[in-house]
Amino acid sequence: MAADQLSLLFAPRSLALVGVSSRPESLSGRLLGNLQRAGFPGKIFPINPKARDIGGLPCFPSLAAVGEVPDVSVIMVPREHALAAVEESLACGVRALVLITAGFREGGAEGAQLEAEIVRRVRQSGALMLGPNCMGLVNTDPQVRLDATFSPVPCRPGGVAFASHSGALGVAMFEQALEVGLGISLFVSLGNSSVVNAADALEYFAEDGRTRAVMLYLEAIEEPQRFLAAAQRVAAHKPVMVLKAGRSAAGQRAASSHTGALAAQDRAVDALLRQAGCVRADSLRELLDWARTAERVAPAAGARVAVLSNAGGPAIAACDALAAQGLELAHLAPATQQALRAFLPAEAAVGNPVDMLPSARPEDFRQALEVLAQDAGVDAVVVITVTPPLASPRQVAEALATAAVPKPYLPVFMTSPQFYQEALGIPDLPPVFRFPEEAVGALAAQRRAQERAVTIQAPKVAPFRPPTVPAREGILPPQEALALVAAAGIPVAPFAIARSPQELPEAADQVGFPLVLKAFGPTLVHKSELAAVVLNIRSREQLQQEAQQLLQRLAEQGCPVEGLLLQPFLTGGRELILGITRDPVVGPLVACGLGGVAVEVWQDVAFRPAPCSLEDAQAMLAELKGKALLGPFRGKPAVDTSAVAEAVVRLSALAAGVPELEECDLNPLLAFPQGVVAVDVRVRLQRR
Ligand code: ADP
Ligand code: MG
Repeated sequence: MAADQLSLLFAPRSLALVGVSSRPESLSGRLLGNLQRAGFPGKIFPINPKARDIGGLPCFPSLAAVGEVPDVSVIMVPREHALAAVEESLACGVRALVLITAGFREGGAEGAQLEAEIVRRVRQSGALMLGPNCMGLVNTDPQVRLDATFSPVPCRPGGVAFASHSGALGVAMFEQALEVGLGISLFVSLGNSSVVNAADALEYFAEDGRTRAVMLYLEAIEEPQRFLAAAQRVAAHKPVMVLKAGRSAAGQRAASSHTGALAAQDRAVDALLRQAGCVRADSLRELLDWARTAERVAPAAGARVAVLSNAGGPAIAACDALAAQGLELAHLAPATQQALRAFLPAEAAVGNPVDMLPSARPEDFRQALEVLAQDAGVDAVVVITVTPPLASPRQVAEALATAAVPKPYLPVFMTSPQFYQEALGIPDLPPVFRFPEEAVGALAAQRRAQERAVTIQAPKVAPFRPPTVPAREGILPPQEALALVAAAGIPVAPFAIARSPQELPEAADQVGFPLVLKAFGPTLVHKSELAAVVLNIRSREQLQQEAQQLLQRLAEQGCPVEGLLLQPFLTGGRELILGITRDPVVGPLVACGLGGVAVEVWQDVAFRPAPCSLEDAQAMLAELKGKALLGPFRGKPAVDTSAVAEAVVRLSALAAGVPELEECDLNPLLAFPQGVVAVDVRVRLQRR
């Protein structure tokens, strides 16, 4: 959407309220009340043929009667009048509409039809429209002062922009935000997102100078490619934190009835969000914690965290959380430990975690924090206070707030409920947490956002289509599957084909001993399960014997054999699975996981939309829970992870360049200390 048109919507100078009621307690009445309460400096035109003035403002019988074109038309009429109200706005030349009215796509087929008609008219006239079925929008910029929502609670101004598919959740978050001291720069309730969607909101958020971090609550991802580009643009500079509903099948069903959107597979959405540079929260609580941290605390330069506490147990909990979240417990320099010793009692622990004991005074907290922050090996500090016996938590908080710390720190106070509201009033105190795990989680999310901000800058590989893609459908015979992957630049094991036992000696000469014998045919999908793979054959005699037995076995099982494939027997490789799959919404995805039996048991597989970048591929490997199996392992050196990443990138280029490539599995891709080799490739083509 054009930037100037989005500014019309997000920073209007005049508004028409079409269908506003004269009852202040109605939803539309409340929207007017909110506009006035927020001190909207522009013009407001209530439109209602049945009233002469509303909320102290002169009322107009129609938009045409206003005599000027408002920047935005907020439409709150009943559903049956919605189309007429939209048409009237467009006819008067209004360029930005907010359709609050509900009962469209989310309510069934009839509503969907009406919505489609409205969208058609809006698009035709080149206008933009927020909603329908939405709660409006907020801009807390002191120049704009726009609260065009019917939220019963006001928005606390600040640095976090928030776009939400659910309007009600938006309100709930406003309340929570007041409670925990989160400030909002912009809020937009997307509703059915039928014209303006999350990608548009992100485009505006990217340019908004007051926005330091972005929160998204999404039930679907419309226009995934635009979303990807817009999110990447924001995420390069500001963290984008997402709660995507529908992780569970039940949640997905509920979400699709909510906004009527087509649900993508959760793992595809997850892959898209990662490639977009977003960090995904598991709960609303997390979303809020991450956002209020990102709003006020600069990201740490690295992953090394010091833990400072006046109690042992919570400090240990923090250390466990650090390990679980992929952060590191910093090694404190001897000078740091000495400096702590100088003012802490002899029984205090001055390694990391630093336990100052319950006797610690507010002044000790301040001083210890300053000492820790000066250590070059520390990137961030978590400061945990359990209600001290000799001082009030407030005194500790005030002491911390005066500390001179050039690095980020997060205070955790495990104390009485009243304290947290009090703490909001202490200037220069970072957001306060109740539990060490939550503070660590917020630091870790910020770190992930930082890492992704770098990853997304990397260029994606160009889609690639080999000139030799077979022009037919279905599962390819192995030699063609191997050739297709090889044409994409992925190393495959040399092979030879024998159509009959008589051709075996010549084929064996081509690959050499020891070798592997595999039968192939239309029903031979999992060959080893049918004992159609024989490894480590060392001589011609053994080959003839094994081949005979193999053919007999398969004949007995009624499996037709088209031919025999010979490959060198490759030892010492670690097995990975690479693959591509297609999601109906997100499109082609590349997958990479640890192969062998583990793949089915652990489901340890990472996905990215294709095409991806080398950095994406490296991040995928880092995501695998079993990634240690790729490192030095049982006396074997680490595998060549850059060759693995290269293969992932090339496969992603193939996925993007060959639309009829419906399935492609490399299982296994053998990874060695030098290089990788695919030994089993399965390809299914399907023309569209
Ligand atoms: P399928 O997956 O249909 O059972 P594969 O061709 O993947 O058949 O072979 C089964 C297993 O045999 C592989 O997972 C791998 O462990 C091993 N294997 C296959 N080909 C080779 C080879 N050329 N060198 C070494 N091991 C191999
Ligand atoms: Mg296999």
